[in-house]
Amino acid sequence: MTRAQLEAFFESLGDKKFRAQQVLKWIHHQGVADIEQMTNLGKNLRQQLLEIAEVRPPEIVSQQDSEDGTRKWAIRVDGGGLVETVLIPDGNRATLCVSSQVGCSLDCSFCSTGKQGFQRDLSAAEIIGQVWLAIDSYDAFQSGKGRVVTNVVLMGMGEPLLNFDNVVSAMDLMLEDLAYGISKRRVTLSTSGVVPALDKLAEVSEVSLAISLHAPNDALRNTLVPINKKYPIAVLLNSARNYLGKQTDNKRVVTVEYTLIAGINDQPEHARELVELLRDFPCKINLIPFNSFPQSGYQRPSGNAVSRFWKVLVDAGFVVTVRTTRGDDISAACGQLVGEVVDRTRRSERYQRAQTQVVEVVG
Ligand code: SAH
Ligand code: SF4
Repeated sequence: MTRAQLEAFFESLGDKKFRAQQVLKWIHHQGVADIEQMTNLGKNLRQQLLEIAEVRPPEIVSQQDSEDGTRKWAIRVDGGGLVETVLIPDGNRATLCVSSQVGCSLDCSFCSTGKQGFQRDLSAAEIIGQVWLAIDSYDAFQSGKGRVVTNVVLMGMGEPLLNFDNVVSAMDLMLEDLAYGISKRRVTLSTSGVVPALDKLAEVSEVSLAISLHAPNDALRNTLVPINKKYPIAVLLNSARNYLGKQTDNKRVVTVEYTLIAGINDQPEHARELVELLRDFPCKINLIPFNSFPQSGYQRPSGNAVSRFWKVLVDAGFVVTVRTTRGDDISAACGQLVGEVVDRTRRSERYQRAQTQVVEVVG
């Protein structure tokens, strides 16, 4: 529950609003999941909460550490599915990549999550629980060891805008001072382009925005990102521009994600077309070399092809980053996350999942 939801909850019990602050601090500052230990709530209230409420951390199935410091958890969710969360330390910062759904219904042609089908949305608790478990995993709630999670990206399994309310509530807690207090610039939502939901998000949220473009024209994007047939590129860019326009600070840009797939969208003419398309669009571009998974049918481009593509964009004046691979020794790198979707049509298929990590900077 967000602060507002908790306040309403305590009022509905005939108690005071400030209980919300106390409970938020216990859970998200102290890492306490046992209601009995929330001593400032009073015995009667604790008893009542034990009967009607639940504070339950995610069920960790496995945890793996990479030689480069990346840590990956697999989480079993109610109903039997599995989602993964990855923490990528990088100098002074550490980025947590969280999942928002078990599987995904959008079926982008190059994405292993899409191939798994869709099982269900994660609850707000299951989303924010991923942040909780990362901090708990380093025993860092009370240790004063410094921030374990400085940035969050909604780039794990699922399309966050198709799980709107739960994602917005979870992001609320990421930003809330009584919970994680992460700045709005350091929380990034990535979408493949669910335009009506993006327009709605613009009214309620100020987190950073990334859009999964992957192609410079509709004909090509239709084949890679099927939702483009419903909301084509011009409509998506318009909606993203509108999102920026609603922000209170005007220096922000949209991150344009572009997964480079050999022979499909990685040619110099694609780069030149992209330059024209984005010429007046306030953005930085993040190139993601494709990470393969079984039966993907696609290849990762060579380093040369990536550099060539990158150079066309940089020469045209864009800020361009290329994601590098982190945590591949523990299969936490892009293209290697293995979720599991219990789905009637595609039961228990396991695919590797792309999860290239963030990396700066070039250009
Ligand atoms: N559903 C959201 C967020 C999750 S995916 C979205 O599509 O934006 C995060 C990023 O990884 C997206 O840009 C997605 O297109 C990209 N991606 C998916 N599969 C990939 C793969 N096999 N290799 C490289 N990037 C991939
Ligand atoms: Fe879903 Fe994003 Fe994968 Fe497309 S790229 S199938 S929207 S998770």
